Amino acid sequence: MLQPGLMMDRPLLVSDVIEHGAAQFGDVEVVSRETHGPLFRYTYAQCAARARKLANALKQLGLEPGKAVGSIAWNNHRHLEAYYAVSGSGMVMHTCNPRLHPQQLIYIINHAEDSVVLFDSTFAPLVKAVAAHCPKVNAWICMSEAANMPVIEGVANVLCYEDLIAPHSEQFVWPQFDERSGAALCYTSGTTGNPKGVLYSQRAIVLSAMSASMPGSVSLSPKETILPVVPMFHINAWCLPYAAPMSGAKLVLPGPRLDGASLYELMEAEKVTVSAGVPTIWLSLLQHVEQNGLRFSTMRRTGVGGSAMPAALISKFADNYDVEVRHGWGMTETTAVATIGCISATQMNLPAAEQHAIIAKQGKSVYGIEIKIVDENGATLPRDGVAQGELMVRGHWILTGYYKGESSPLVDGWFPTGDIATIEPSGIMQIRDRAKDVIKTGGEWISSIDLENAAMGHPAVANAAVIGVKHPKWDERPLLFIVRKPGQTVEREEILAFLTERVAKWWVPDDVVFLDALPVGGTGKVQKADLRKEYGGVFS
Ligand code: AMP
Repeated sequence: MLQPGLMMDRPLLVSDVIEHGAAQFGDVEVVSRETHGPLFRYTYAQCAARARKLANALKQLGLEPGKAVGSIAWNNHRHLEAYYAVSGSGMVMHTCNPRLHPQQLIYIINHAEDSVVLFDSTFAPLVKAVAAHCPKVNAWICMSEAANMPVIEGVANVLCYEDLIAPHSEQFVWPQFDERSGAALCYTSGTTGNPKGVLYSQRAIVLSAMSASMPGSVSLSPKETILPVVPMFHINAWCLPYAAPMSGAKLVLPGPRLDGASLYELMEAEKVTVSAGVPTIWLSLLQHVEQNGLRFSTMRRTGVGGSAMPAALISKFADNYDVEVRHGWGMTETTAVATIGCISATQMNLPAAEQHAIIAKQGKSVYGIEIKIVDENGATLPRDGVAQGELMVRGHWILTGYYKGESSPLVDGWFPTGDIATIEPSGIMQIRDRAKDVIKTGGEWISSIDLENAAMGHPAVANAAVIGVKHPKWDERPLLFIVRKPGQTVEREEILAFLTERVAKWWVPDDVVFLDALPVGGTGKVQKADLRKEYGGVFS
């Protein structure tokens, strides 16, 4: 018979993370770029105090555990306070991606049943566009002080964050509850149809943040200053806003300024040692540094993921700037980092180019996560670095089902990622392709099927297909193929103008190619591989 362990059974709760930060690293700084420009700075102790004030304010607004609170916001200190106040109170922090088309934003706010939505003033026009269509939102809280409040005509229930929390106490007793309760919600913007919600548990977030802090991952400690460029509205910013106070690292939040010059300036001014973001961000940062003959005084390591980090960029960071890249893989469904690469003691003796080639792959699964690849029949493929199959993942912070979803996406307890990968005998995984034809642009997804559907809505269009074409800055941009209806004369400009009215601006294809027919395969499907072969070069 098994012996019961004689250890306390304390739940892993998000509120304990900020209270730990406040108690153990109370004087460690959080530096945040305000939406209107200046830098704001305070400590983890002050952050915790203001999170408690917000928790009191939300309670007074009538919000109860289990309710959802939306955010449309940059990486900044008020968003950080909301992360803790909302999840710490047992409510669900629903981070909305402001880059979604307003229709999709309306969909996710309504689907999540957000009771209030916190937003940065940058997104006031978005709030104006969606508010009338979100009947369950009782208040729109602008994360600002009174002096910088935007005027939003036609939206009645707009509150000022600072005015809202000002009268409230810094004392709040965080409720204790089941660690498996929902803490945060993030919608995927992939493939086709409506976005799907991933509801992260308190436990998943805490474990994932602990994992991200480990030395082989992003690696955080009181010696480090971390600047997460990965947005807090996308996959919990890889749980770094939790990992930083957990491990005592100083936290620097860049607000809306994500261009190379602003990031460099912030890194230097705040002595940032480690960062994290998508390759596109690092491309523009490096361009700025190179063009101006600059050096990093303190930056030594960066986590990169979201799309593949080219080996050339890894080499540039390492060889020219002494910055180590940790290349990771994850998806909305995996809470944060699931695999990450780190050069081992034995690999350190390899020539630099070989080390960079290793890091260009997506690394090993972290403790708590398992990966495998399977063929189209679900049979496990060998870890030989050659066999390619669909990447399957399971572990402590992998979803079991989509929020309000009807059927489970799991296959034998594993989540099928839709990515095609190889795994080497050593465990190093490499993403080879995407099973779907989603287009990755600047770290965000464009659904080729949605774009095709929109184009097909034009009365002169008989058929349409979209592929991603390599782009030096954005990673990929969409290229649209159109087959005109017989006798129709529609041209490029008209099609693009038509799409501009129907999809987000950054979804509008960079170019249109008119064909007599699309290549169709044996099962009647458009052969995008053929289109890619002929047209998949590089957009300039
Ligand atoms: P999202 O859910 O929007 O974060 O997108 C997740 C998808 O991004 C994954 O399924 C991959 O297709 C892709 N992805 C994430 N990280 C990487 C990486 N390091 N290399 C290549 N693709 C990646």
